[in-house]
Amino acid sequence: MIRTHIDGQEVVVTKELVEKYNQAGPRYTSYPTAPNWNDHFGPNEFLGRLKETNKKEKSLSLYFHLPFCEERCTFCACSVVATKQHSVVEPYLKALFKEIENVGEVLDRAPPLEQLHWGGGTPTYLSADQIEQLYENIGKYFSIADSAEVSIEIDPRVTTDDQLKTLRRLGFNRASLGVQDFESEVQKLAGRIQSEEETRHAIVTCRSLGFESVNVDLVYGLPKQTQKTFEKTLQKILELNPDRIALFNFAYVPWMHTHQKKILEQDLPDAWTKLTMFCEAIRIFEDAGYEFIGLDHFAKKNDELSKARKEGTMYRNFQGYTTKANCDLIGLGVTSISFVSGAFSQNAKKLKDYEKGVSKNGFVTERGLVLSEDDLIRQKIIREIFCHQRVKADFDNYFKNEKERLRLLEKDGLVDLGADQLRVTPLGRLFLRNIGMIFDAYLKPNQDRFSKTV
Ligand code: SF4
Repeated sequence: MIRTHIDGQEVVVTKELVEKYNQAGPRYTSYPTAPNWNDHFGPNEFLGRLKETNKKEKSLSLYFHLPFCEERCTFCACSVVATKQHSVVEPYLKALFKEIENVGEVLDRAPPLEQLHWGGGTPTYLSADQIEQLYENIGKYFSIADSAEVSIEIDPRVTTDDQLKTLRRLGFNRASLGVQDFESEVQKLAGRIQSEEETRHAIVTCRSLGFESVNVDLVYGLPKQTQKTFEKTLQKILELNPDRIALFNFAYVPWMHTHQKKILEQDLPDAWTKLTMFCEAIRIFEDAGYEFIGLDHFAKKNDELSKARKEGTMYRNFQGYTTKANCDLIGLGVTSISFVSGAFSQNAKKLKDYEKGVSKNGFVTERGLVLSEDDLIRQKIIREIFCHQRVKADFDNYFKNEKERLRLLEKDGLVDLGADQLRVTPLGRLFLRNIGMIFDAYLKPNQDRFSKTV
């Protein structure tokens, strides 16, 4: 049995429960999930949605995908172009500037951005000059609200002080640092050797430059990770005192990301060990004054995210948990995803298609989905479960079928079901993906393409 405390209550997990609920299932960074989008949604449909949002003058969040990394980490599930030839950046930036112009010209009534995020890949694969050029180009078409979250993903192995200074001077106020694990054998098998000193230096530099929030990304379930070694990593992370910690469950899907075949299945910790590590992390972080947020995040009690959670205003989108609810989200760059005026869309996935397509056709939307009324209802429910673990719904009529299945989860102690309200119990917080799956109208039995929920 695993014993831990969640939300101030003792939680006991049995092996039977883990065996029962360790199924393949989505993480629900979007609903409906990406495999259910289609290629009937193309550039014209995307343009139509942009025009619609422009009329409403809705709050905006922009995401920029900077896909380059010098090497591919074996565990990575991001959309990455691995190359040491930094000459790839120039043509990519040229296409990105064109895309900014294309989007910016349509959104001439857009209010200042509430959120700007650069992710990757490795955004600091760009030189300080290139970072500055990209930021300037964004500024030609968009202004940034004083209260905006302006964030970037940082790889401490390759990011220089000069780049961090440039980012801070431009207005970036949040840095998210990839760490994963400090144990050398785990790092070797993860294809990512990163010294504690590199991580410490990046955090100290971000703090001294005045970044308001410094986040750290960790991964549990990596090859050769053990409870003991992972606990050491967690203690070292606490010494670095980040504002937020994201603790991701390693998604082992070698049938989708073939580079993960370098990881031997026998080196991976089993579901029970993984859950033990996760529960131990909850205990350690809560004891250190962090709040357990949603599926896999931790934030200091005075952090905006903890406050938003308490006030019921926290939100979740592709980029994770945020305090900026209900913005239209526009993704720029190769493979980027947008959610605009009730429709998902995704840009071309191949670099060449993206670069050529933007200059030739303006927009490079490859696929997407206009959400139906039912999709929007279910999307909201899944988001509430992942953000607030509490949701109101019509279980007697609209969700009659789901109610029967929820009763089974209730028997296992994962949820409390009232007449029109569902509450996830502290134990159920360990199985949020399984609870979300009940409301997924697209999910077919034995959909093994997804990673395991535990
Ligand atoms: S540095 Fe980050 S984005 Fe690049 S391969 Fe490694 S984990 Fe993936």
